[in-house]
Amino acid sequence: MPGKNLSRDEAQQRASILTVDGYRVRLDVTSAPDPAAATFRSTTTIAFRCAEPGASTFVDLLAPAVRAVTLNGRALDPAAAYDGARVHVDALAAENVLTVEADCAYSRTGEGLHRFTDPVDGETYLYTHYEPADARRVFATFEQPDLKAPFTFTVTAPAAWDVRSNAAHEQVTTEGAARTWEFAPTRPISSYLTAVVAGPYHVARDHYSRTLDDGTVLDIPLSAMCRKSLAPYFDSDEILGVTKLGLDFFHEQFAYPYPFGKYDQAFVPEYNIGAMENPGCVTFREEFVFRSKVTDAAYEGRANVVLHEMAHMWFGDLVTMRWWDDLWLKESFADFMGSYGLVGAGTRYRSAWVTFANQRKAWAYRQDQFPTTHPITADIRDLEDAKLNFDGITYAKGASVLKQLVAYAGAEAFFEGARRYFQRHAFGNTELADLLDILEETSGRDLKAWAAAWLQTAGVNTLTPQLTADAEGRITELAVLQDGGVLRPHRIAVGLYDRDADGALVRTARFELDVTGARTVVAEAAGRPRPALVLLNDDDLTYCKVRFDEESLQTLRGGLGDIKDDLARALAWSAVWNLTRDALMPARDYVALVLRFAGQEANIGVLQSLHTQAKGAVDLYADPAWRGEGGRLLADGALRELRAAAPGSDHQLAWARFLAQTANGSEHLGLVRGLLAGTARIDGLEVDQELRWALWLALAAAGQAGEDELAGELAADNTASGRRQHTQCLAARPTPEAKAAAWSAVVDSDELPNALVEANIAGFAVPAHRDLTALYAAPYFKLLERVWAERTIEIAMRIVGGFFPQAQVDEATLAEADGWLSGHPDAAPALRRLVLERRDDLARALRAQACDRG
Ligand SMILES: [Zn+2]
Repeated sequence: MPGKNLSRDEAQQRASILTVDGYRVRLDVTSAPDPAAATFRSTTTIAFRCAEPGASTFVDLLAPAVRAVTLNGRALDPAAAYDGARVHVDALAAENVLTVEADCAYSRTGEGLHRFTDPVDGETYLYTHYEPADARRVFATFEQPDLKAPFTFTVTAPAAWDVRSNAAHEQVTTEGAARTWEFAPTRPISSYLTAVVAGPYHVARDHYSRTLDDGTVLDIPLSAMCRKSLAPYFDSDEILGVTKLGLDFFHEQFAYPYPFGKYDQAFVPEYNIGAMENPGCVTFREEFVFRSKVTDAAYEGRANVVLHEMAHMWFGDLVTMRWWDDLWLKESFADFMGSYGLVGAGTRYRSAWVTFANQRKAWAYRQDQFPTTHPITADIRDLEDAKLNFDGITYAKGASVLKQLVAYAGAEAFFEGARRYFQRHAFGNTELADLLDILEETSGRDLKAWAAAWLQTAGVNTLTPQLTADAEGRITELAVLQDGGVLRPHRIAVGLYDRDADGALVRTARFELDVTGARTVVAEAAGRPRPALVLLNDDDLTYCKVRFDEESLQTLRGGLGDIKDDLARALAWSAVWNLTRDALMPARDYVALVLRFAGQEANIGVLQSLHTQAKGAVDLYADPAWRGEGGRLLADGALRELRAAAPGSDHQLAWARFLAQTANGSEHLGLVRGLLAGTARIDGLEVDQELRWALWLALAAAGQAGEDELAGELAADNTASGRRQHTQCLAARPTPEAKAAAWSAVVDSDELPNALVEANIAGFAVPAHRDLTALYAAPYFKLLERVWAERTIEIAMRIVGGFFPQAQVDEATLAEADGWLSGHPDAAPALRRLVLERRDDLARALRAQACDRG
């Protein structure tokens, strides 16, 4: 389809002449339950002003058919006005009314108006997802964040359905089998933030109220929604409890009353991302409704997302970036507020900053070392650029840098800045300078140099301790060396650790200082006894990679798990993982650390990260000659710790899942089969439905699950989740036929919904099947451009990222990737970026393998 992209220049041009007064959008989705109905009727009326009468412009729309276009009472020929992506209008008046009537398509990719039919009860569910630019799949719109306007939605749907949108409904009328919901106009918002959720959803209701400073009472009706068939598993009280704590906390911090009336939170099927902050109508992936036992890390993760989206009601929805360059102005803040809120709002998730240090930062470090990394304030030329920038820089590095800003400028200046920012820019759009101006006012500091170093340059610094001691073992000098691209000012803490009487490693001294330039001396450390461990960036104030001096590294090899403090221990784990990724620690040494100390890791989220990383180390970073032994060691370790874990504990479940991921020998696979059959038991371990699928996946990948057995499991769990996992199991079988079927289902047709595309790719790409999947490397590079041209960007991103031959860690595959890159300099930049990143992962794995070979 030509012209689906939209450039920043085009958006600026349009914003320079247009002011939008309001949209009226009428949708008729009564056909949705009929699978043969591919489209729904959409009628949009836009009232807008033009500063240059006589000028022309265009409205964005991706629709199979446009029935009518009317501008200021004049009918335009849709065939002439509509080019497949834009409705062109010219001879604008000072004040205009444009009506576009179209047939829009129900989506199966999670972009636009997604339609899902529940296999359990045959019910149909709809929801929208637009960011960055898919509102145009549902109605005609100026699809850019800075043309804010009030939206008035009217939705006609089957009479038995519940329908929600950003605003509360004002009137509902039933006519036969259909019911029409008329919603109140929204406050001025951006088109990507509008939303409709429709279907026979299960709804849990609650209420929040608060007396404001001026004595008025703010009432916010609350709801939490999910599919009917998930209702038995829906712990809405927990979700709404976190919601109320968050509303208290953000009102106190932001001092600006929640501006969008009610607050619905809908958990929706086949969702592409974690959640979306539609004002008053937040959507979440329904995997947050837990059908089986999950660890507390999953509850913490969900609560974090609840608060992240809530923070967006202010950062993003009330005040919005002008263009996608400043996406960080909402995502970095919301990511920071997710963790800050978990601790500050009084939820039970007290270790949010440990999780942040361990997981969010790992995402940032990885992204920031790709050749495609970018400053936090990015250069976003068009919508394809925008789509790829929901990444580890915009979210996790940005949030890390805000954490550093709080350490640097002080929390009070930071939050006073936020309060003034909302007051000054409510319902408007902003850029970096708007925020900096305010933070300079509140902090009294010149933040331009700070912003230039932290927000406008890319890359991660490395901090390394340099320690000398005298003959008596006293520190003569402790210095912090900084390298890695642009050197930055870092406010850091340095911790010195020694063994206490019980043998635990505890902090004996802490120094806080500003590190600037290539070498900074920690003056206060001189004269102290040389410690067992020097931990730079203790308390995780700044964003950097941390190294160790040789003696500290020896301490960690013998006692990493003995570090008493959860955050300090998480930082040590993070640092040794970075050493492994950087080919400075052999993968087998990292695996040995995990096998030795993971069993005593108290923090469940950290433990689950260690599992993922240790598996990755064996699959990708270990010398292939050692890989088999490494895999056996992991499976043995998993079994040992599973048997040792407290019955019924989260740790037991995590080790059971790790056993399922690593099982390879007959002993492990025999236990897996026994657990499924009920002939083997681990005391306290409930083999519930999700664990059953994890165990089936282990057998399938080992070639020990028959098609009929998998069909039997599906028959017992014929749900959305069951279908996904059944599909993944089929694709995970180690046969040429299974791989060919998975590949073909994704590549040769666009029939599959997003969730099954993902399941097929995940099953196909089992690293241990590298000999089978090697055949697909050459076809992969041949199909890239076709996939990018023909599929929606969401699906194309999954195919390009997921089918890259990442388990083929060899020079030949690297050369193939390089060959494609050098042979396709003019391929879409976003496509090249994805391939460059996978290529970089491959090159990193090759370096790590060389290190592991020794
Ligand atoms: Zn967000």
